[in-house]
Amino acid sequence: MSFKVQGWCPGALRPMASGDGLVVRVRPPSGRLTQAQAMGIAKAARRYGNGLIDLSGRANVQLRGVTPETHTPLITALTALDLIDANVASETRRNIIVTPFADATTYRLAEELPRRLNDAPELPGKFGFILDCGAAPVMSDIQADIRFERSADGQRILRAAGCDLGAPVREDEAAEAAIALATWFLEAGGVTDGRGRMAQLIAEGARPEGMLTPRIAPAPALPRPEPGRTPHGALIGFAFGQMDADRLNALAMLGPIRVTPWRMVLIEGLTERPRLDGLITDPADPLLRVHACTGAPGCLQAHGPTRDLARRLAPQVPRHKTLHVSGCAKGCAWPLPADLTFVATSGGLDLIRKGRAADRPERSGISASDLTSLSELF
Ligand code: SF4
Repeated sequence: MSFKVQGWCPGALRPMASGDGLVVRVRPPSGRLTQAQAMGIAKAARRYGNGLIDLSGRANVQLRGVTPETHTPLITALTALDLIDANVASETRRNIIVTPFADATTYRLAEELPRRLNDAPELPGKFGFILDCGAAPVMSDIQADIRFERSADGQRILRAAGCDLGAPVREDEAAEAAIALATWFLEAGGVTDGRGRMAQLIAEGARPEGMLTPRIAPAPALPRPEPGRTPHGALIGFAFGQMDADRLNALAMLGPIRVTPWRMVLIEGLTERPRLDGLITDPADPLLRVHACTGAPGCLQAHGPTRDLARRLAPQVPRHKTLHVSGCAKGCAWPLPADLTFVATSGGLDLIRKGRAADRPERSGISASDLTSLSELF
């Protein structure tokens, strides 16, 4: 393995060092930002970072280019916006993704779950929850250990990752049931050396029977949403999930923001395309299907740059295909298989077809400048 596995997720209180400074990851409560919070983040990104803001695949917002000197005043500014947890432990536990298509009961659960998690036993750093309780699941391909979804007849169900079926739960028992399932995971031996995932435990044969009786399937999953109008507002994408502070500020003026794990934001109540540069509002835009991490020089682990190559190749990506350009085999930008993946190595680019960045390459030592046509590779 040619990359470093952290075993923990960076946060705001525990930022991650990168090639362009500290990366400060803000976890918007319930996946939502008020207009004042979003404008405050934009202002803080300009003042204490380099003005660039990433949307993460865990529905978080990352400020880049923060320095050890600006980190403390940045946390003070974000605390004033009500975006910072009491301590690193609370921040780490609040690993919860909420569908942008949530209803009021789901948002109530999203507020209650972090409170309950504060009193729960310690979970592995990457252990996460998904509240995917819109009309049908839209986050089936996003990794989480405990999931709330809807069945085909609209019941809220609680499901352990790796189990096909879930158990119906009432609103007043939902948070407690999720904590009980997490506790079962610990007691069933789900953690080794501080790490472990629910799906892995289930794959080994453990079942949460007795405390949860899985018997209902989630409704058939919908495909990943695309930019455009939804009943909740307008979904807007960004090339590689990155925007600058001016863009965020301008979007915040249009309405409250819901952050998604698809590196898009939903502007609540917005019914028209914003007239702003640097947004992806057309579902046909090939950049939506091209994934590229920060790469060099922004990431210390990168073996080469990524985004210029990804941008250059994007027009050649057919409508239903995906391209992933990764600075190393960790594959941060796209944890799923892609039709075509190029991974930077110390000896040029590796090529992987229909796989993940960490999979065995079909070819190695490719020079980026030699990559002109992809037509024979898709
Ligand atoms: S995949 Fe990209 S962002 Fe992630 S560690 Fe490797 S080079 Fe860095």
